[in-house]
Amino acid sequence: MTRKRIGILGGTFDPIHVGHLALARAARDALALDEVRFVPTGQSWQKGQVVAGAAQRLEMVRLTLAGEPGLVVDAREAQRDGPSYTVDTLAELRRELGPEPALVLLLGSDQLHNLPTWHRWQELLGLAHLACTQRERVSLANLPAPIEALLQAHGRQTLPDAAAGAVVLFSMPPVPVSATALRAQLARGERPSGLVAPAVLDYIEFNQLYGPTQARRT
Ligand code: ATP
Repeated sequence: MTRKRIGILGGTFDPIHVGHLALARAARDALALDEVRFVPTGQSWQKGQVVAGAAQRLEMVRLTLAGEPGLVVDAREAQRDGPSYTVDTLAELRRELGPEPALVLLLGSDQLHNLPTWHRWQELLGLAHLACTQRERVSLANLPAPIEALLQAHGRQTLPDAAAGAVVLFSMPPVPVSATALRAQLARGERPSGLVAPAVLDYIEFNQLYGPTQARRT
């Protein structure tokens, strides 16, 4: 296989945790990805107000990925003014990288259920493949009708040798952690070691992120 395969993992990463890392590693190994790019959102249009600023979330991703082979950070959304739309990011990457490499958008099952609410989501498959995995207890069954139809039309057992256009599923061991639960733990003054990289926990403490008054999203 000579076509380069680049995984894209978007998220608020507020904060980044071991579930994100496990997803990226599982995708890298299962789909033979050459790299996975973590793309922290700038202004998230879906999640309302995020707690840490874009630069802080970007830095926490940088600290977590330091020394991880094949996992890199992509700052473009965090540095973009206005709302972050995945379709714009993929179009920009496609313009930069050209038609040859395969782009593979990675999604947990919660986001797959959510996909029909995304801005211009029908255009995503023209730019990238979609690769989805089950997130803890969020089943890959009972998907919204437009997603079932997408799977019927474009679902494949394995990634084809193409730059875009297929939907595949891959498995990962369940990692029961969410940024929401972590923010609540941090707000209670707990140090969730094992769920967040030690350098990120130090960064959170130093910058006093996710304290009792900041941990809740509006
Ligand atoms: P929040 O709790 O604030 O909504 P989150 O933990 O869901 O945040 P995001 O940054 O929204 O994190 O997630 C980015 C991507 O990572 C999504 O595709 C999501 O499905 C996936 N993901 C997050 N946590 C896990 C996990 N524990 N296991 C597998 N995938 C995950």
